[in-house]
Amino acid sequence: MKKNGEMAVRRPDDMHLHVRQGELMKVVVPQTAAVFKRAIIMPNILPPVTSAERLERYRERVVAAAGSASGFEPLMTFKIIPGLSPDVVQELKQAGALAGKLYPEGATTNSEDGVSDVQTIYPVLEEMQRNDIVLSIHGEDPDVFSLDREEAFLPTLRQFSRDFPDLRIVLEHLSSAAAVQAVAELPNVWGTITLHHLELTLDDLLGGELQPHYFCKPIVKRPSDRAAIQRAALSGSPKYFFGSDSAPHPVDRKHAPTARAGIFSAPVAYQGLLRFFGEHDALERIEGFTAVYGADFYGVPKNGDELVVRRQDWTAPDEVGGLVPYHAGEVFPYTVIPGWK
Ligand SMILES: [Zn+2]
Repeated sequence: MKKNGEMAVRRPDDMHLHVRQGELMKVVVPQTAAVFKRAIIMPNILPPVTSAERLERYRERVVAAAGSASGFEPLMTFKIIPGLSPDVVQELKQAGALAGKLYPEGATTNSEDGVSDVQTIYPVLEEMQRNDIVLSIHGEDPDVFSLDREEAFLPTLRQFSRDFPDLRIVLEHLSSAAAVQAVAELPNVWGTITLHHLELTLDDLLGGELQPHYFCKPIVKRPSDRAAIQRAALSGSPKYFFGSDSAPHPVDRKHAPTARAGIFSAPVAYQGLLRFFGEHDALERIEGFTAVYGADFYGVPKNGDELVVRRQDWTAPDEVGGLVPYHAGEVFPYTVIPGWK
């Protein structure tokens, strides 16, 4: 922070984002594009992104929703579903796919077509390794107790790392100390970290009144898990970078007897990270975490645009197009000045 309370930072990327589809997409994409230059767009829409044609069509819609003034660039992925032919991997690569996303069956939103036996997708992983496409993983075993699901998946992660030594793997939304440790140990595995896993424990979700807007998969966990995630983000290690996992649901699916998993963090993501890094006297590390390590991992150039951040209170919106964002109405200590240069 300079004397005048302003700081210029490289415009960030969000390396894990759900923008949904239809009308919802038109509301949520501009929230990300207002600050972030690029985002890795998750493929779990209906029907899922599993072909070059669907990928191209989805990209066009995201670009249209962002508006040309934003300069926003979606980085596209496809979904690894049972029966996906290895032959389409090369077409997906040519269409611009940077990653294939693996969801264990039943682990989260729209994962009923997830994979239950990982051996069946080995031919696809081999083709991805050959074409240098990233394997992105929602790493939970949905058959075990909620708080242990991520740790229970780690043997499978280690198996992938060993069997595909040249495949670059990213374990998404780290939520446990065990997963942070696995990323540190495995040479070809990186990890994304969300804002909410940096901030929340299970007590924030249900220790007092139930907070549906803190409910996500993987679920927020113990203070010791959060501390490990915080240390990883603050460490300056290029193994850990930002992916919001912003995942909006209509309010009637959140304020409901059975609430959907997913936190709509895009409208406050960067302001929340500024607060987190600022509170830990580590503002100089936000650029690596949000604009360097992820770009290097995905092999895309670092952004040329710069944002200006000011030490000045900013109030998060109460609602965005009928959706309730994470931290609705809260005051944050930093303001992102609209626009960039
Ligand atoms: Zn996600």
